[in-house]
Amino acid sequence: MKKIIIAIDGLSGCGKSTTAKSVAKALKYAYIDSGSMYRAVTLHFLESGTELTNSEDIRQSLESVQLDFRTLEEGGSQRIFLNGRDVEDEIRDMEVSELVSEVSKIKEVREKLVAIQRNLGENRGVVMDGRDIGTVVFPGAELKVFMYADLNVRADRRRRELLDKGKSAAFEHIARNLNERDHIDSTRKESPLLKAADAVEMDTSHLTFDDQVEQILDLARDRMN
Ligand code: C5P
Repeated sequence: MKKIIIAIDGLSGCGKSTTAKSVAKALKYAYIDSGSMYRAVTLHFLESGTELTNSEDIRQSLESVQLDFRTLEEGGSQRIFLNGRDVEDEIRDMEVSELVSEVSKIKEVREKLVAIQRNLGENRGVVMDGRDIGTVVFPGAELKVFMYADLNVRADRRRRELLDKGKSAAFEHIARNLNERDHIDSTRKESPLLKAADAVEMDTSHLTFDDQVEQILDLARDRMN
Protein backbone atom coordinates (compact mmCIF):
# COMPACT_ATOMS: atom_id res chain seq x y z
CA MET A 1 0.00 0.00 0.00
CA LYS A 2 1.38 3.37 -0.92
CA LYS A 3 1.91 6.05 1.73
CA ILE A 4 -0.19 9.13 1.14
CA ILE A 5 -0.60 12.65 2.49
CA ILE A 6 -3.95 13.49 4.06
CA ALA A 7 -4.74 17.20 4.29
CA ILE A 8 -7.60 18.25 6.57
CA ASP A 9 -8.61 21.89 6.37
CA GLY A 10 -11.66 23.77 7.52
CA LEU A 11 -13.31 26.18 9.90
CA SER A 12 -12.12 26.72 13.47
CA GLY A 13 -13.35 24.27 16.06
CA CYS A 14 -15.04 21.69 13.87
CA GLY A 15 -12.99 18.78 15.16
CA LYS A 16 -10.19 18.71 12.61
CA SER A 17 -7.43 18.02 15.12
CA THR A 18 -9.10 15.27 17.11
CA THR A 19 -10.26 13.58 13.92
CA ALA A 20 -6.87 13.91 12.23
CA LYS A 21 -5.14 12.49 15.29
CA SER A 22 -7.32 9.35 15.29
CA VAL A 23 -6.98 8.87 11.54
CA ALA A 24 -3.19 9.06 11.88
CA LYS A 25 -3.21 6.58 14.75
CA ALA A 26 -5.34 4.08 12.81
CA LEU A 27 -3.04 4.29 9.79
CA LYS A 28 0.17 4.46 11.86
CA TYR A 29 0.91 7.78 10.18
CA ALA A 30 2.48 10.90 11.68
CA TYR A 31 0.02 13.56 12.79
CA ILE A 32 0.92 17.24 12.48
CA ASP A 33 -1.27 19.94 13.99
CA SER A 34 -0.23 22.97 11.93
CA GLY A 35 -2.48 25.27 14.00
CA SER A 36 -0.38 24.50 17.07
CA MET A 37 2.64 25.92 15.23
CA TYR A 38 0.84 29.23 14.53
CA ARG A 39 -0.28 29.25 18.15
CA ALA A 40 3.25 28.64 19.47
CA VAL A 41 4.62 31.52 17.37
CA THR A 42 1.79 33.70 18.71
CA LEU A 43 2.72 32.78 22.29
CA HIS A 44 6.34 33.66 21.53
CA PHE A 45 5.31 37.04 20.08
CA LEU A 46 3.16 37.74 23.16
CA GLU A 47 5.95 36.81 25.55
CA SER A 48 8.64 38.72 23.69
CA GLY A 49 6.44 41.77 23.12
CA THR A 50 6.95 41.56 19.34
CA GLU A 51 5.40 44.49 17.47
CA LEU A 52 3.09 42.98 14.84
CA THR A 53 3.41 46.08 12.68
CA ASN A 54 7.20 46.11 12.70
CA SER A 55 8.65 43.70 10.13
CA GLU A 56 12.19 43.95 11.47
CA ASP A 57 10.94 43.08 14.95
CA ILE A 58 8.97 40.15 13.48
CA ARG A 59 11.98 38.90 11.51
CA GLN A 60 14.24 38.97 14.57
CA SER A 61 11.66 37.40 16.81
CA LEU A 62 11.05 34.59 14.30
CA GLU A 63 14.76 33.84 14.21
CA SER A 64 14.60 32.86 17.85
CA VAL A 65 11.66 30.46 17.39
CA GLN A 66 12.51 26.80 17.42
CA LEU A 67 9.62 24.35 17.25
CA ASP A 68 9.53 20.62 17.67
CA PHE A 69 7.01 17.92 18.42
CA ARG A 70 7.62 15.30 21.11
CA THR A 71 5.62 12.56 22.78
CA LEU A 72 6.11 12.30 26.50
CA GLU A 73 5.24 8.64 26.85
CA GLU A 74 5.05 5.66 24.51
CA GLY A 75 1.79 5.87 22.51
CA GLY A 76 0.95 9.24 24.09
CA SER A 77 -0.16 12.20 22.05
CA GLN A 78 2.28 14.57 20.57
CA ARG A 79 3.02 17.91 22.22
CA ILE A 80 4.55 21.04 20.77
CA PHE A 81 7.72 22.50 22.25
CA LEU A 82 8.73 26.12 21.80
CA ASN A 83 12.47 26.60 22.29
CA GLY A 84 12.61 23.39 24.32
CA ARG A 85 9.58 24.23 26.49
CA ASP A 86 6.33 22.25 26.44
CA VAL A 87 3.65 24.80 25.48
CA GLU A 88 0.92 22.39 24.31
CA ASP A 89 -1.54 23.53 27.00
CA GLU A 90 -0.69 27.23 27.11
CA ILE A 91 -1.25 27.72 23.38
CA ARG A 92 -4.96 26.80 23.79
CA ASP A 93 -5.58 29.75 26.16
CA MET A 94 -8.01 32.42 24.98
CA GLU A 95 -5.22 35.01 25.05
CA VAL A 96 -3.44 33.10 22.28
CA SER A 97 -6.70 32.29 20.45
CA GLU A 98 -7.48 35.97 20.33
CA LEU A 99 -4.24 36.94 18.59
CA VAL A 100 -3.38 33.89 16.51
CA SER A 101 -5.30 34.90 13.38
CA GLU A 102 -3.55 38.28 13.29
CA VAL A 103 -0.18 36.54 13.57
CA SER A 104 -1.16 34.02 10.88
CA LYS A 105 -1.74 36.83 8.39
CA ILE A 106 1.97 37.71 8.45
CA LYS A 107 3.81 36.55 5.34
CA GLU A 108 7.13 35.90 7.12
CA VAL A 109 5.39 33.72 9.72
CA ARG A 110 3.67 31.66 7.02
CA GLU A 111 6.88 31.23 5.02
CA LYS A 112 8.74 29.88 8.02
CA LEU A 113 5.97 27.50 9.12
CA VAL A 114 5.09 26.23 5.63
CA ALA A 115 8.77 25.30 5.09
CA ILE A 116 8.79 23.30 8.35
CA GLN A 117 5.47 21.63 7.46
CA ARG A 118 6.70 20.56 4.00
CA ASN A 119 9.78 19.09 5.59
CA LEU A 120 7.68 17.10 8.04
CA GLY A 121 5.66 15.65 5.15
CA GLU A 122 8.69 14.80 3.05
CA ASN A 123 8.38 11.05 3.52
CA ARG A 124 4.57 11.06 3.13
CA GLY A 125 2.54 8.93 5.56
CA VAL A 126 1.30 12.11 7.22
CA VAL A 127 -2.04 13.55 8.34
CA MET A 128 -1.85 17.33 8.68
CA ASP A 129 -4.68 19.63 9.65
CA GLY A 130 -4.96 23.40 9.24
CA ARG A 131 -6.30 26.01 6.87
CA ASP A 132 -4.05 25.93 3.80
CA ILE A 133 -2.73 22.37 3.83
CA GLY A 134 -4.59 21.20 0.70
CA THR A 135 -4.17 24.49 -1.13
CA VAL A 136 -0.64 25.67 -0.29
CA VAL A 137 1.38 23.29 1.86
CA PHE A 138 0.58 20.06 -0.01
CA PRO A 139 -1.37 20.89 -3.17
CA GLY A 140 -0.50 17.38 -4.38
CA ALA A 141 -1.96 15.59 -1.31
CA GLU A 142 -3.73 12.38 -2.33
CA LEU A 143 -6.64 13.06 0.04
CA LYS A 144 -7.97 16.50 0.92
CA VAL A 145 -10.89 16.97 3.29
CA PHE A 146 -12.61 20.28 3.99
CA MET A 147 -14.53 20.27 7.27
CA TYR A 148 -17.16 22.67 8.52
CA ALA A 149 -19.94 22.68 11.13
CA ASP A 150 -22.62 24.90 12.60
CA LEU A 151 -21.13 27.69 14.79
CA ASN A 152 -23.16 26.73 17.89
CA VAL A 153 -22.04 23.12 17.67
CA ARG A 154 -18.43 24.21 17.30
CA ALA A 155 -18.54 26.65 20.23
CA ASP A 156 -20.15 24.04 22.45
CA ARG A 157 -17.52 21.43 21.57
CA ARG A 158 -14.70 23.93 22.21
CA ARG A 159 -16.21 24.92 25.57
CA ARG A 160 -16.29 21.28 26.63
CA GLU A 161 -12.71 20.76 25.50
CA LEU A 162 -11.58 23.71 27.63
CA LEU A 163 -13.62 22.43 30.59
CA ASP A 164 -11.98 19.00 30.27
CA LYS A 165 -8.65 20.77 30.65
CA GLY A 166 -9.89 22.59 33.73
CA LYS A 167 -10.27 25.92 31.88
CA SER A 168 -13.50 27.78 31.50
CA ALA A 169 -14.74 30.38 29.04
CA ALA A 170 -18.20 31.71 28.28
CA PHE A 171 -20.00 30.15 25.32
CA GLU A 172 -20.57 33.59 23.71
CA HIS A 173 -16.90 34.48 24.08
CA ILE A 174 -15.83 31.25 22.39
CA ALA A 175 -18.42 31.59 19.59
CA ARG A 176 -17.30 35.16 18.91
CA ASN A 177 -13.67 34.09 18.77
CA LEU A 178 -14.40 31.20 16.36
CA ASN A 179 -16.40 33.50 14.13
CA GLU A 180 -13.76 36.20 14.11
CA ARG A 181 -10.97 33.77 13.35
CA ASP A 182 -12.95 32.25 10.45
CA HIS A 183 -13.51 35.73 9.08
CA ILE A 184 -9.86 36.81 9.34
CA ASP A 185 -8.60 33.42 8.10
CA SER A 186 -10.91 33.44 5.05
CA THR A 187 -10.32 37.02 4.01
CA ARG A 188 -6.57 37.40 4.54
CA LYS A 189 -4.27 38.02 1.58
CA GLU A 190 -1.71 35.28 2.35
CA SER A 191 -3.03 31.74 1.90
CA PRO A 192 -6.65 32.34 2.90
CA LEU A 193 -8.80 29.49 4.18
CA LEU A 194 -10.27 28.01 1.01
CA LYS A 195 -11.65 24.67 -0.02
CA ALA A 196 -9.28 23.11 -2.55
CA ALA A 197 -11.11 22.31 -5.79
CA ASP A 198 -10.43 18.59 -5.29
CA ALA A 199 -11.27 18.46 -1.55
CA VAL A 200 -14.06 16.28 -0.17
CA GLU A 201 -16.52 18.40 1.86
CA MET A 202 -17.59 17.15 5.27
CA ASP A 203 -20.26 18.82 7.41
CA THR A 204 -19.54 17.56 10.94
CA SER A 205 -22.50 19.29 12.67
CA HIS A 206 -24.41 16.04 13.04
CA LEU A 207 -21.67 13.47 12.70
CA THR A 208 -20.31 11.55 15.65
CA PHE A 209 -16.59 11.60 16.14
CA ASP A 210 -16.35 7.91 15.12
CA ASP A 211 -18.30 8.60 11.91
CA GLN A 212 -15.89 11.39 10.99
CA VAL A 213 -12.89 9.16 11.50
CA GLU A 214 -14.45 6.21 9.63
CA GLN A 215 -15.43 8.35 6.62
CA ILE A 216 -11.91 9.72 6.29
CA LEU A 217 -10.34 6.27 6.73
CA ASP A 218 -12.56 4.89 3.94
CA LEU A 219 -11.53 7.72 1.62
CA ALA A 220 -7.88 7.25 2.57
CA ARG A 221 -7.86 3.48 1.94
CA ASP A 222 -9.36 4.09 -1.50
CA ARG A 223 -6.45 6.32 -2.38
CA MET A 224 -3.71 4.06 -1.08
CA ASN A 225 -4.17 1.40 -3.74
O1 C5P B 1 -6.27 24.85 14.09
P1 C5P B 1 -6.35 25.97 15.13
O2 C5P B 1 -7.73 26.46 15.36
O3 C5P B 1 -5.62 25.63 16.38
O4 C5P B 1 -5.53 27.16 14.44
C1 C5P B 1 -5.34 28.38 15.08
C2 C5P B 1 -5.18 29.50 14.04
O5 C5P B 1 -3.95 29.29 13.32
C3 C5P B 1 -6.24 29.58 12.96
O6 C5P B 1 -7.37 30.33 13.37
C4 C5P B 1 -5.49 30.29 11.83
O7 C5P B 1 -5.45 31.69 12.05
C5 C5P B 1 -4.07 29.77 11.99
N1 C5P B 1 -3.73 28.69 11.05
C6 C5P B 1 -3.37 29.05 9.77
N2 C5P B 1 -2.97 28.08 8.89
C7 C5P B 1 -2.92 26.80 9.27
C8 C5P B 1 -3.32 26.41 10.57
C9 C5P B 1 -3.74 27.39 11.46
O8 C5P B 1 -3.42 30.22 9.42
N3 C5P B 1 -2.48 25.88 8.40
